[in-house]
Amino acid sequence: MKALVKTGKGRESVKLLDIPIPEPKADEVLIKVMACGICGTDVHIMNDAYAHTIPVTLGHEFTGTVVKAGEAVTELKVGDQVVALSAQRSCGSCKYCQMGDYVHCTKKQSIGIDLGGGMAEYIVTTAQRTFKVPDSFVGRDILAITEPLACCVRAVLEKSRIHAGDVVLVAGPGVIGLLCMQLAKLCGAFVIVTGTPVDAERLKLAKSLGADVVNDDPARVLELVTKYAPYGADYVIECSGAAPSLCSALECVRKEGSLTQVGMYGKNVEIPMDTIVRKELKVTAGFSQAMSTWELALKLIGQNVLALEELVSVRMPLEQWEQAFDLFDKKTENKIFLIP
Ligand SMILES: [Zn+2]
Ligand SMILES: [Zn+2]
Repeated sequence: MKALVKTGKGRESVKLLDIPIPEPKADEVLIKVMACGICGTDVHIMNDAYAHTIPVTLGHEFTGTVVKAGEAVTELKVGDQVVALSAQRSCGSCKYCQMGDYVHCTKKQSIGIDLGGGMAEYIVTTAQRTFKVPDSFVGRDILAITEPLACCVRAVLEKSRIHAGDVVLVAGPGVIGLLCMQLAKLCGAFVIVTGTPVDAERLKLAKSLGADVVNDDPARVLELVTKYAPYGADYVIECSGAAPSLCSALECVRKEGSLTQVGMYGKNVEIPMDTIVRKELKVTAGFSQAMSTWELALKLIGQNVLALEELVSVRMPLEQWEQAFDLFDKKTENKIFLIP
């Protein structure tokens, strides 16, 4: 089968190879991949900026159809369309595994990082950590976006406590920001999405998907926030992973307000900690997902309360992976799907 494999060090070691179709173990299923999204983590792995195991097939944002099930699998059958949790293997007995928070297990192994990923014709996953998609979505590849959605569900619905009437500032209108915006709207918040002039198109999309106010001028964000929330935003959800955006977020949040960090910086950044102390801020973060997160994300998908299709701007054949990653680097597109 075709698979996009990182074979050694650096981006030049990433190659589209012909490798054997994996064989599912007793508790696993073999899935024919319909689509796999490109994520910043894939780029970090390519550039050796994220710990991973070599060789590895890239990609963790996928959906596909079960074509073979191991003899011990009872919850899934051939023909089911599925999505899968990233942390596929872990010790199973530590404090975090017992809670379903596999991502925090020191022995965890994740698809596209340590285990074969979704940028391939087939992938093998553990049945117990693989989920059937809602019936109304069967046959549609859009659910390759479930994994990034689950990351946002973790941050906004499981780790934050946003209430109706809260003024929420979402910093960074990428796919993650646009999903977090929609989830904050579901909580009943008044949501302001902020970016920079290069985000003009994305901010237009944010407005059309339900953001109350959008802003493309970083110098004006504080003025804008205080127009709607005189004391400052109740919540800031930082999705850009850019230090200036974080500093501005800390200015915009009200005293005793909350910051939820979603974006990753990929390096150490300078933070005005005294602002956090003086304002008595609550700081939380969302990283990856737990079992509970997938159940909630799939429930919301099934209820059809989220705009997902609008967030995918490009579908390209897996063979054109180089052009697709170049396009990703330009940061002008929303989600890019590779189709094997
Ligand atoms: Zn991702
Ligand atoms: Zn564990």
